[in-house]
Amino acid sequence: MGAKPMVKIDRTEKFDAIVIGSGIGGLTVAALMSKLQNKRVLVLEQHFTVGGFTHGFERKGGKFHWDVGLHYIGELGKNSPFRAILNYLSDGKLKWEKLPDPFETFVYPDFTFRVYSDPKRYQADLIAQFPEERIAIRRYFKDVEKAAFLFIVNGLIDLSPRFLQPFIKGVCRKFDRIARQTTQHYLDKNFQSIQLKALLVSQWGDYGLPPSMSCFGIHGIIVTHFLEGGWYPVGGGSAIAKTIIPSIEQAGGKVITQRRVSEILIDKGVAVGVKVQNAAHPDTEIETYYAPIVVSNAGVFNTYMKLIPPSYPIRDRESIQAFPKGANILSLYIGFKASPQNLGFHGENHWIFDTYDQQEVAFAPPISATVSPKFAYLSFPSLKDPSAKGHTAELLAGGEYDFFLQWEQQPWRRRDADYQKIKAEITESLIDYVEDRYPGFRDLIEYAELATPLTVEHFAASDCGTIYGIPCVPERFDLPWIGFRTPIENLYLTGCDAFFAGLIGSMIGGIKTAGFVDGIFGFAKITGAVIFHKYRR
Ligand SMILES: Cc1cc2nc3c(=O)[nH]c(=O)nc-3n(C[C@H](O)[C@H](O)[C@H](O)COP(=O)(O)OP(=O)(O)OC[C@H]3O[C@@H](n4cnc5c(N)ncnc54)[C@H](O)[C@@H]3O)c2cc1C
Repeated sequence: MGAKPMVKIDRTEKFDAIVIGSGIGGLTVAALMSKLQNKRVLVLEQHFTVGGFTHGFERKGGKFHWDVGLHYIGELGKNSPFRAILNYLSDGKLKWEKLPDPFETFVYPDFTFRVYSDPKRYQADLIAQFPEERIAIRRYFKDVEKAAFLFIVNGLIDLSPRFLQPFIKGVCRKFDRIARQTTQHYLDKNFQSIQLKALLVSQWGDYGLPPSMSCFGIHGIIVTHFLEGGWYPVGGGSAIAKTIIPSIEQAGGKVITQRRVSEILIDKGVAVGVKVQNAAHPDTEIETYYAPIVVSNAGVFNTYMKLIPPSYPIRDRESIQAFPKGANILSLYIGFKASPQNLGFHGENHWIFDTYDQQEVAFAPPISATVSPKFAYLSFPSLKDPSAKGHTAELLAGGEYDFFLQWEQQPWRRRDADYQKIKAEITESLIDYVEDRYPGFRDLIEYAELATPLTVEHFAASDCGTIYGIPCVPERFDLPWIGFRTPIENLYLTGCDAFFAGLIGSMIGGIKTAGFVDGIFGFAKITGAVIFHKYRR
C-alpha cells in the first residue's frame, strides 16, 4: 500500500479551521470553506492515506487496485445537482463512468433478477415476475419516494434554529410514519410473496441493516438513489480525495496524514483546538493546534466518547454509548490472472443470496471452514474503471466484530497464526460460494487478501470497525445528537452522522456544516457557486 509523501507542517502556522478526518464529509467542509471563504483549513487524518472510506489501496507493485468503501454511486446523471457539487469541489477534475446495464444482479436460490437503469423497466420486470402483486408493486415505487423524502426532511431539521426544532419535529411526526416504520413492517403489510419481499430488499447491504431493523426511510433513500443506475469514479474511489485536496491547498490549507487527534480542546464551553498524536511516531511529543472552528469527521461515537474529554459534561453520553452498533463487514480483495469478462461479467454488481430469509442472512453464524456464507456481494472495480491496470474483484460478506475481538490488541499484519488460519478459511469459503454459482471463478484468481472488522477499525478508526456510522434504525429519527451541531460552541460534526451514510449522504453532511458555519447566506453562497461553476464551463 503506497503511503502518501508526508506534507510538512510548521506548528506555529495559523489556521482558520481544523477538520478531524479526511473522509468525504471532512473534505467537503474543508474545500467549501477554502473555496468560498478563503479559509486556511488544517485537515488531520490518522491513516497514512487520505479519503476515509473513499481511499483505495494497491498490491503487486500497483498492478491491482481496490476501493475500501465505494462500489457505485447513484443520481449522477448529467443534470444531477450532486454531480455539479462534486464537479465544483474537484474543479471539474473528477470524472465518472456509468455502470453497464443491467447494473444490479440479484441472485436467489431459484431465480436471478437483473435491474436496469430505468425505473419503468424495473417496475415492469417485477410485475412480469409477480403479476398477482402488481398493485402493491406500483404503490411501492411511490412509497419509496415518499419515505426517502421524509427521511431527508428529518435529516435537515437540525438546520433550523434550536428552539424551533421540537416544534418542527412534532409537525413532521404527523406525516413521517411511512419513513419511521421498519422496512419489514412495510413489506409484510403490502406484499404476499416471500420471494418478492426478499427481492425488494436485495440492496440492504448498501445501508447495512436487515429489513427487520432498518427504517423504511433509509430503504427508500437507497432504492430511489439507484433507480437511474450507478456511476463509478474514473481512477477509483481514491480519485475523489486526490481531486478535492488541491482546492483546500490553494487557499493555504493542509491535509496531513498520520495525525491522530486524541482530544478536542475546550475552553469555557468553546472548542479552541486539538491535541494530536503523530501516528507514525507515537512516542514523540503530543502536538497541539488551535483554530476558531473545529469540525469532526470522526463520527458521533468517536467525537463524544473519545475526543471530547470525559470530564466535560455531555448530557447524551449514556445514550450514545448504549445505542446499537452498525454493520461490520468482511472484504475479500481479489486480483485476477485475466479479465473476469471471460466468465461473462461486465462490471455489474452481484448480490448472491442462499435463502429468501433476510433475517437468516443477517444473523447467520460466522463464516468458517465448515460454515458457508448465506450471502455475498461481488463487484469488479477493474471493469468499471477505464484506467484500471490489473483485473480485480471485491467480494463482501457480513462479519462480526466480536468474533475477532480476541485479536484486537495485536498489531495489523502481525496478528497470530490462529487469526491467519481463520482468515484463510473464510477466504476459501467465500471463493467456494462464488465458484458454485460461477464455475471458473477460482481458477481466474491470482491474489486474494481478506480484511476483517479489525482491519476496518485499524484504518478507518470507526467505532468497533462499523462501516456506516450510527445505524438508520427507526429510533434514529428522534436522536438529538444526530446532525452537525454539538453542545459545544464552535465544534461541529460532518460526514455520515451529520446526515446519513454513503458518499452523497456524507457529502451533504459536509455541505450542512460548511453552509451553517458561513452564516445566514452560507447555503445561498454554496448554491450560487455550484450553479455558476456548472454554467461557466
Ligand atoms: C465496504 C463499504 C462499501 C461501501 N460502498 C459504498 C458505495 O458503493 N456507495 C456509497 O455511496 N457509499 C458506500 N459506502 C459508504 C461510504 O463509503 C461512507 O458512508 C462514506 O465514505 C463515509 O464518509 P465520512 O466522511 O462520513 O467518513 P469516513 O470516510 O469514515 O472518514 C472519516 C475519517 O476520519 C478519520 N479519523 C477518525 N478518527 C480520527 C482521529 N481521531 N484523528 C484523525 N482522523 C480520524 C478516519 O481515519 C477517516 O479517514 C461503503 C462503505 C464501505 C465500508
